[in-house]
Amino acid sequence: MRYAETGFNLEIDLSRGSIERVETDPRETELYLGGLGTNAKILWDRVPPEIKPFDPENLLIFSAGLLCGTPATGCNRTIVTTISPQTELMAFSMMGGFWAPELKYAGYDKVIFRGKSPKLVYLYINNDKVELRDASHLQGKGSLETAELIRQELQDPKVQVASIGLAGENRVYFASIEQGRSSASRLGIGAVMGDKGIKAIAVRGTKDINVARPAEFIELCNEVREYIKFRNENPIPGVMTILQGLGSPQEMKVHDEKWHTENFMWGNARVRRRDFWNEEVAQKWSETLDTMRTRLISCFNCPMECGATISPPGLLTYMMKCFSKLTYTMAAFSDLDFGLGIAQSATEYGVDGFSTPQVMAFALELYENGILTDDDFPGMPSDNEGRFYWLLDRIVRREGIGDVLANGTYWAAKEIGKGAEEYAHNTIKKHEQLPLKLSMLNPIYFLMYATGEKINITQIEGQFPQAPFPTMEEREAFVKDWFQVPDEKFKQILLDWEPRGEKSMPYYPTVQMCCDIVDWQETMHYIDDALGMCAGLSSFPLKPPYHIHNYPKFISSGAGIDMDEDKLTHAIKRYRTLVRAINIRRGMRREDEKPPEDHWKKRFPELEKELLDTYYTLKGWNNDGIPTQGSLHELGLDYVSEDFVKRGILTGSDDEPPKEKASPEKKKQ
Ligand code: SF4
Repeated sequence: MRYAETGFNLEIDLSRGSIERVETDPRETELYLGGLGTNAKILWDRVPPEIKPFDPENLLIFSAGLLCGTPATGCNRTIVTTISPQTELMAFSMMGGFWAPELKYAGYDKVIFRGKSPKLVYLYINNDKVELRDASHLQGKGSLETAELIRQELQDPKVQVASIGLAGENRVYFASIEQGRSSASRLGIGAVMGDKGIKAIAVRGTKDINVARPAEFIELCNEVREYIKFRNENPIPGVMTILQGLGSPQEMKVHDEKWHTENFMWGNARVRRRDFWNEEVAQKWSETLDTMRTRLISCFNCPMECGATISPPGLLTYMMKCFSKLTYTMAAFSDLDFGLGIAQSATEYGVDGFSTPQVMAFALELYENGILTDDDFPGMPSDNEGRFYWLLDRIVRREGIGDVLANGTYWAAKEIGKGAEEYAHNTIKKHEQLPLKLSMLNPIYFLMYATGEKINITQIEGQFPQAPFPTMEEREAFVKDWFQVPDEKFKQILLDWEPRGEKSMPYYPTVQMCCDIVDWQETMHYIDDALGMCAGLSSFPLKPPYHIHNYPKFISSGAGIDMDEDKLTHAIKRYRTLVRAINIRRGMRREDEKPPEDHWKKRFPELEKELLDTYYTLKGWNNDGIPTQGSLHELGLDYVSEDFVKRGILTGSDDEPPKEKASPEKKKQ
């Protein structure tokens, strides 16, 4: 019997219209754990680096995490994996909500699409009944509208629908997949879904999931729920409000936006408005939020209520969470009522709430600086809000300049030329980042930005405070009940960390300490992504209910896999290295691993080099960021090693890349 997982995937060949129910190998789960882990293995096995994002051979994988569908609180993530059109590397966007547990209850762990459908379709999964259905009547419909129409058509209000809007249909590089209560937004996975001709996936399931040792598992779940209660009653003092509790940052509960509006950048990530927040703005924005926010909502089996339903006047209700509350507002130098309004259109169109506003602000900056002219914007209104709506519409339809901008700032700047690349200043690995510009280099964040392969900063950070506590009393109070640490040494690092002086940034924590901190944080995120756990209850907040000490017990009693901390850490390292291997095989190298030049004003090139050198060594990668043959062997990834040697990425005799061979990316340029 299989535990926690169903043991079956759905394989859909869209070109042929075939649907297969395929039994999976339980040994793969032991090695790669499920969710993102087994997605990575499938992508490595079946999508060679020659395959481009919009080739039919590219796969689009929807996976429920290993523990989704069990009673584990907050375990509801769908992990979507494909090759990103934006970065041409592995994309793994995730969404919460209700979709993944429903897929499990229907009897499947993953849905794997290959090929392309000759006409627009949607997939309907109803337990054992699975069919591709005509979606021509849904063409051009909004993502939420599509979900509603499908529910009506199927006469089943309980069906969970993941869908794309116009942006996905038109292969906008930052198109999202929307799911009512959540969305998978980063890295353009909606564009691949549209390219394959899939408008939506509707799922309904009523089966059970087996748990290996139910009494033990439920006891662990109860402990987690008790701890959530404790933490909700005892927020962490001394850190910014949105990081004091659990869950995704509780933006929809917060009225005070002084910190974001005065510390994050406005427009195209260049302008800081230090004195923006005042009583008048606070009152106006509070009224807007209280009027438009109709209800706080949670994902499946979670009490945290991180999201809210938003009902802008005259528009359909949609869901919002986290910092996307402010992204449109700040990019357009506008007000919260504008931001919440345009986000409704953006959700229906199905675009990423982080990239989209930056792309539009970038276009307007080019216009203001004469690189784009009136000829590029025929009929564009003169006010900023009107311009944003105008641009959004052109982008999702790929009309005029919108067709160029629909490829994101990195590719658009290349196509526009005339110095436009100088203005695409806020990308990592060709992908837009949070509009943060800071003063002093933070070596921990430097490493996370540079080496993170989710290419999204908020998916790596979390376990270690972002800044030192000013007083020893505060530090001692913090470490007192910090049982989540994998090693006591992290407590001492925090105790010694000072805001100023010898033991302050950028030289303290030391290089080795920074590497250990980042490695711990990343490990936690990769565990979550394999299990389908929301980062908001594990890897993202300080002192979470899930941690390295109780996760092995969840896996053992839930999935029936004999697990301890060392084995879990090893399995995570295995699949994290496999993710890197996929990207290395697609041309990613050390030279790609750099945060935006202007992210910090004070930079330290020698220190940054040492950080990368040391981190690569810790991870078992060579000086160019390529996993070495030795480390691959230790992780049971000899097949990767053989492939690297065959392709000339590593030589057979040593671990250095051959000097004369350029990476595929270099060759392309
Ligand atoms: S913590 Fe928030 S985002 Fe995470 S599962 Fe719960 S409600 Fe959803």
